[in-house]
Amino acid sequence: MTAGTMTAGRAQAPGLYIHFPFCRSKCGYCDFYSVTETPLVSAFLEALSTEAALYREEFTAFDTLYLGGGTPSVMAPPQVAALLETIRGTFTILDHAEITIELNPADLTREDLRMLRETGINRVNIGVQSFHDRELEFLGRRHDRKQALSALEWAMSAGFDNIGLDLIYRLPGQCFKDWRESLAQAIACGPAHLSCYELELKPGTPMGRKYAEGALPERPESLAREFFVETSEILEGAGYVHYEVSNFAAGMDRASRHNQKYWDHTPYLGLGPAAHSFDGSRRWWNRSSLDAYLADLRGAERPVEGREDLGREELAMEALFLGLRTRDGIDLDRYARLYGRDLMEDNRRQLEEWSRLGLIEIAHGRIRPTRSGMAVADALAAM
Ligand code: SF4
Repeated sequence: MTAGTMTAGRAQAPGLYIHFPFCRSKCGYCDFYSVTETPLVSAFLEALSTEAALYREEFTAFDTLYLGGGTPSVMAPPQVAALLETIRGTFTILDHAEITIELNPADLTREDLRMLRETGINRVNIGVQSFHDRELEFLGRRHDRKQALSALEWAMSAGFDNIGLDLIYRLPGQCFKDWRESLAQAIACGPAHLSCYELELKPGTPMGRKYAEGALPERPESLAREFFVETSEILEGAGYVHYEVSNFAAGMDRASRHNQKYWDHTPYLGLGPAAHSFDGSRRWWNRSSLDAYLADLRGAERPVEGREDLGREELAMEALFLGLRTRDGIDLDRYARLYGRDLMEDNRRQLEEWSRLGLIEIAHGRIRPTRSGMAVADALAAM
């Protein structure tokens, strides 16, 4: 049985994620797996081709392809084109597929964007993060405001009509005025999609350590909800749909089709170091080490570090957790059909309490988080 037919999710083709594990430099807040040894890019691309071939029996066709990382724009456009050719030679990428690449404004020229458009990529996600130079410097980004604006303009003139940009808020010492200015500039650029993430100060990162040592300005926890609600109000006021905790689209036809698969249990294959995969009932993840990844693939072995089987109960819990993060929420009939649980009956008292507190709405056979509920989605799912 190929993945996509045994799914707990919707009857959809699976998604393909490729983790490109290189960055030119590391940002102080980042805990994604990436290395700066760019001379190893060619070896990685060769290994990736071997890895893809090892999955061609289980995964045949995809309707989304997401090239993330790391920083895929470290590759020159001809390298990206060759990578896509390898993938198309191994799997079927369906005609209507959403094909996304993450881009760093520091890497781009007008010509690069034109060439990327010719590869068949139809969606770009630009890591803008902020439109304030001092904030970009604080985050350790390689680009400035001017480069971000140029990248957006060049992407549009290259013919991309599905452009997303990422922004980060709640930086230490950041005031609401500065955040509103970044949002206003983003809206003025008219992207189809915006991802707004709260800065996470993870203990294993240089910035997380500095914060723990008291070397950065305070970031009161009480402001988290205010930043979240204000972001949602401003972007919805500008016509964007707040369709997931961190994601906004200019109409649901512009929502990320690839990310949707993670949220509704559609299978996906992840290739590259640290990438995760899911086939409907099992999840597995690759080694978070480029050296180990390359060594495994030199021996034509799958570079898998760990795996877990997910029973119906675990899938049901995940579906609840993920559903409470999306505007669509949870379809109670579908939930009962897929997971054999009557969510309403099993948790009536808790759900009615959340409804009374204005955190969820229960109507027309669905449970949907309100804006206030989305602001505390993780806490709700943990209850
Ligand atoms: S460019 Fe992206 S992946 Fe690379 S270090 Fe910075 S945040 Fe992390």
